[in-house]
Amino acid sequence: MASCGGGGGECHQSHCQRSEEDGGAEEETRERVASLSFAGDSPTSSATGDGALERCTKCGETVAAAAPRAVNGLCAACFRAYLFGKFKLAVTTNAMISPTDNVLVAFSGGPASRIALQFVHEMQCISLKNWDASKSQALPVFGVGVAFIDESAISIGPLHEMNKVIAQIRSIVSTLSPAHKELHIAPIENICSTSSNDGRIRLNELLDSVTDATGKEDFMKYLRMLTLQKIALDNGYSKLLLGSCTSTIACHVISATVKGQGYSLPGDVQYVDARWEVPVVLPLRDCTAEELNKLCHLDGLELLQLIKRPSNSINSLVSSFVARLRDENPSRERTIVRTAEKLRPFCFNKFVENTYHEFVPSRLRCKFQNINNSETALSEVLCPLCGSPLSEPEVQSLRNIQEKTQTPVENFAAHCCQSCSFQILPKGAESLQQFYTVLPQSVTVRVTDGTSDHSQLGELIDDYLLVVDDDDDDGT
Ligand SMILES: [Zn+2]
Ligand SMILES: [Zn+2]
Repeated sequence: MASCGGGGGECHQSHCQRSEEDGGAEEETRERVASLSFAGDSPTSSATGDGALERCTKCGETVAAAAPRAVNGLCAACFRAYLFGKFKLAVTTNAMISPTDNVLVAFSGGPASRIALQFVHEMQCISLKNWDASKSQALPVFGVGVAFIDESAISIGPLHEMNKVIAQIRSIVSTLSPAHKELHIAPIENICSTSSNDGRIRLNELLDSVTDATGKEDFMKYLRMLTLQKIALDNGYSKLLLGSCTSTIACHVISATVKGQGYSLPGDVQYVDARWEVPVVLPLRDCTAEELNKLCHLDGLELLQLIKRPSNSINSLVSSFVARLRDENPSRERTIVRTAEKLRPFCFNKFVENTYHEFVPSRLRCKFQNINNSETALSEVLCPLCGSPLSEPEVQSLRNIQEKTQTPVENFAAHCCQSCSFQILPKGAESLQQFYTVLPQSVTVRVTDGTSDHSQLGELIDDYLLVVDDDDDDGT
């Protein structure tokens, strides 16, 4: 089990210092590994036979090509440093974590969130070390907590399996020391009711009323986000960190397009999503699932085996489609995400507080000032079922309907985006009323308290953020 300071610990630190001095080095490595994966590198197709020797393309050290240490032409230490470098670059250039933050890591047990947890832990260790070494000890070290959502209420696996999984998570989190990490395990049904039994009944009733397989999955995803937000709010976390990687975002890009969510899509593919009460950050956005899998394997990181229910939704169709694209050409996932990146993001895709400046390395500071100067106070009308900003025609039709509607349920339905109206909202007044009755309060409150109801669409932020991103990506 890899822990802070052990194994490749020194390696990433030196890499990070280097990449801070010279931003180009990171791009260079990224390019090199990308071109190496073009050469058809897959875990099974390692062409070199036993005993053959290869040089690491970065540090030049000789490694046995057949050994599991050789990944994408890099030795294990360099591959690790390369991924950690990407993570750290995303965190620093987007001011994701400040010293005063308390970061909640959403842990699902898969490779991406396992690496996210590991890397955040290592960043925390580096900060702790610096804090110990600094004389003034003026800057605090950010806190880290871990959240796991227990979905046994709707899962097909037996209950004792979940108990085993939870014991496993406890043991994983307990190995991440120094710095204690609080572990929050929240049953998903808690979002519906504080009583576990009542919650289970209501949640199942709610999901049963969504007949569309895709709508059900998307709604579940939203309930998960609400659960994470609740944990974060109740326990004083200031950031929510997700393990979304290039591969999951690429799938989302295609499926959102298919579902007609193109307008809101740009808001979902950025590093920062501050539309939630507790802002969401995606530091693994530039790492692919394949890379994260390899690192878990290399470092022997323990993963959870959760039973996945079979699915025939658009989402699962798209993910097998994207997997086929990747098999043909490993850089396709990156291409998809990079294309979506060119779309104009929303104003909630960046942090606005000026205080972040103090914690950003001076080399990067000008970028943030640019972004902040372009800031205008704009709010969006967000769909209460998925959080997507409504497009101009959707807002227009909402205004028209609002003049006529009387009941809360009609008002609620009018606020939903077209995609949710089609995929999630039950048809027919009676089933809609029933659906509305069992909806968690945290969903219905989004309409009644007016938080999602603001005006002023259309006029969005300047292109600063995109321009900056383009500059960063030109080298790749
Ligand atoms: Zn190397
Ligand atoms: Zn929606």
